[in-house]
Amino acid sequence: MLSKKVDLSTKKESETEHTTTYGRRYFGEPVPKYVMPDDGMPARAAYQLIHDELNLDGNPSLNLASFVTTWMEPEATLLIAENLDKNYVDNDEYPQTTVIQERVVNMLARLFNAPEDCESVGTATIGSSEAIMLAVLAHKWTWRKRRQAEAKPCDNPNIVMGADVHTVWEKSARYFDVELKLIPLQEDTYIVSADEVAKEVDENTICVAAVLGTTFTGQMDPIKEINDLLVDVKKTKGWDIPLHVDGASGAFVAPFVDPDLEWDFRLEQVKSINASGHKYGLVYPGIGWLVMKDKNDLPEELVFRITYLGGEMTNYSLNFSKNSSPIIAQYYNFIRLGKSGYADIMTNMMSNSHYLAEKLRDTGKFEIINKQKTLPLVALRLKDAAFTVFQLSKMLRQKGWIVPAYYLPENAQDVAVMRMVIKENFSRDMVELLFSDIMQAYHSLELSEAEREERAKGKKNLSLLY
Ligand SMILES: *Cc1c(COP(=O)(O)O)cnc(C)c1O
Repeated sequence: MLSKKVDLSTKKESETEHTTTYGRRYFGEPVPKYVMPDDGMPARAAYQLIHDELNLDGNPSLNLASFVTTWMEPEATLLIAENLDKNYVDNDEYPQTTVIQERVVNMLARLFNAPEDCESVGTATIGSSEAIMLAVLAHKWTWRKRRQAEAKPCDNPNIVMGADVHTVWEKSARYFDVELKLIPLQEDTYIVSADEVAKEVDENTICVAAVLGTTFTGQMDPIKEINDLLVDVKKTKGWDIPLHVDGASGAFVAPFVDPDLEWDFRLEQVKSINASGHKYGLVYPGIGWLVMKDKNDLPEELVFRITYLGGEMTNYSLNFSKNSSPIIAQYYNFIRLGKSGYADIMTNMMSNSHYLAEKLRDTGKFEIINKQKTLPLVALRLKDAAFTVFQLSKMLRQKGWIVPAYYLPENAQDVAVMRMVIKENFSRDMVELLFSDIMQAYHSLELSEAEREERAKGKKNLSLLY
């Protein structure tokens, strides 16, 4: 047979795959950034371009800034991948996912010691933020219905909390038009006190929020004292003010580490609790939980009964569609680990964080500011150093460690702290490595500060240095 010369201009990309991915034209040209390209590119090329760009992100396992889970077992990851294509809201099509959510809510209500004669209700959310917004709405509606029934004005609701709350509380108050009564922190303890709460509550208070493990220092508000105060207010003044516990982190720690600590539905005025499944619930983001002690704490007008795709479902959420996987992964952890498994993991995290705190304290250079052992983290400030935690944090970043430094909220806004969250996959060995890098960074900052001072004194001839 006679062969003929091929016209090169019609030759397709796929026919020149003799080179590696990087030899292809997509890697010698800028990537489309702000205008959707007219044509696509091979999957392999798109994957590699984005994969490589994301290498600039920090390494999640060295990220001590976030409370959010950075490791799960391969079997959990498999379940997550298998269910990525299920929209949670299609209850009728995926009834088993709804059943699984219900099991988790049941387990949580009991873990939080809901009395058996209460009909607790709850829902999965995207995170604690959505759960908190839903709780604020429920309490606002309950308060308003009660005021209307009593023919009293209901145009001025307020919510009371300490300045140690997460930013979502301020956001919720603003979004849902509730006056925010934010109590400045107590010096030295960096939490709120029941006495301060007592001064702020009134007949228009829809709810008091208390934190089980603040994001700033990991400490706990005096939840039981605030509850007792609210019980007293109910008796003496007749105002039935619910207490919401923000257990974003702590609600998955306290039940396993300190089961006798009374912070949950055992307390009379605690009517709602949120928890972040993606923090110490040990699930990848985004999953949170809201549990209401009793269905009466959730006004029925807020629960939507939707007829959709063939069935009726009840829905209490801010958004509609979402992924089912994190809910399934939460259930996986519950049955895989059980209470004893969670307790073992929490105990390791606590002991590794104590170990790090003690080692740092023993150097005499740091003051550990989370005196209560509520969460596995270390929050510290520098003891008379010539440099700041911000410089230390920056220096650690050069090694790959992500350790945040920040100022505390109102009343303690001059206190600069550095905080390290110890997660499941942060072993004792990692603690040792981190400690040694902190000390190395500390000494090199000390040296460069000393050098700077000497230079300022003119002892060194600057021209010799350059
Ligand atoms: C993380 C956190 C939140 C917000 O939770 P998300 O799950 O990130 O939405 C709220 N409150 C506290 C105390 C937190 O630690």
